Amino acid sequence: MSENPSCEFPRASRTHCPDIRVSFEFFPPKTVAMEAMLWESINRLAPLGPSFMSVTYGAGGSTRERTHATVARLAKEGVVKPAAHLTCVGAGREEIDAIAKGYWDAGVRHIVALRGDPPEGLGAKFMAHPEGYESSCALVAGIKKIGDFEVSVSAYPERHPESLSLDADLDFLRAKVDAGANRAITQFFFENEIYLRYLDRIRAAGIEIPVVPGVMPMQNFKQTAGFAKKAGASVPQWLADRFEGLDDDPQTRSLVAATVAAEQVLGLVDHGVRDFHFYTNNRADLVYAICHLLGLRPKLEQKAA
Ligand code: FAD
Repeated sequence: MSENPSCEFPRASRTHCPDIRVSFEFFPPKTVAMEAMLWESINRLAPLGPSFMSVTYGAGGSTRERTHATVARLAKEGVVKPAAHLTCVGAGREEIDAIAKGYWDAGVRHIVALRGDPPEGLGAKFMAHPEGYESSCALVAGIKKIGDFEVSVSAYPERHPESLSLDADLDFLRAKVDAGANRAITQFFFENEIYLRYLDRIRAAGIEIPVVPGVMPMQNFKQTAGFAKKAGASVPQWLADRFEGLDDDPQTRSLVAATVAAEQVLGLVDHGVRDFHFYTNNRADLVYAICHLLGLRPKLEQKAA
């Protein structure tokens, strides 16, 4: 059921659980103001000593330069290990390989390798570029040939919307591991049981890589619930009830969101989970508070923005 069922830290003393590891995901900024907010968030979260910070890659390579600039700056500053998301939508192998090589040359050693969604959006049929990588598995194998990258891939506890079954999804995850993936990061979920049951199935299927839960603090319930629906992640009624009536009350919503996410991660800690990947939405406050509850305290000199 759990990665480490013998957690010796009951709820009251969880903050002493010594081996919690976290990572943070950001998206590349579109405007100067968004860039300032991003780096403010990065500088706030970096002292917590995350394993890595990753930067997403917009559909069809739409953020190629901005993703690269953000990841390269993280690498140059050298405070936190960066990870670059990379997809194989709409580009030939040569182009993708050049991007990966560029990351290697910039000192980046970790890529989050994804197939990506078609330009028409989630749900549209994926068509590989005629000279491109045909799948995330092929992309992982291609990246591994370019350099000895650490490669993370996605995993879907409630199955990917395109997959026929959870078993088909597990077969696909296994193929990504066989291609060289070192870690999987899950799509977000709101019921811990879903992740724990999924992990049981993964281990029963003989897949041994770490499968890190992706945690999405609900900054904006309506928006996240809409996205979850498209992504195939279920939103339980009890969660909707908790946010009921708060659409125009961002302050209370934020407090509720922190409580909900804290309950979720602390519940996972009780099941022996030690690694967490946070979808930050480029905002530090909620995630910082949750990490504090997990027992993390600033470790580094906070960098000036
Ligand atoms: P895949 O590895 O492609 O697999 C998804 C499932 O679809 C498989 O398990 C399998 O069941 C089925 N499938 C796919 N291809 C085949 C095939 N050839 N044959 C049979 N079955 C198949 N998107 C972005 O655009 N940019 C990002 O930066 C980004 N970051 C993400 C980070 C995480 C942690 C996660 C969970 C998702 C991210 N995504 C991102 C979304 C992702 O690109 C989409 O969900 C996409 O639809 C699938 O790509 P994938 O690599 O996640 O999944």
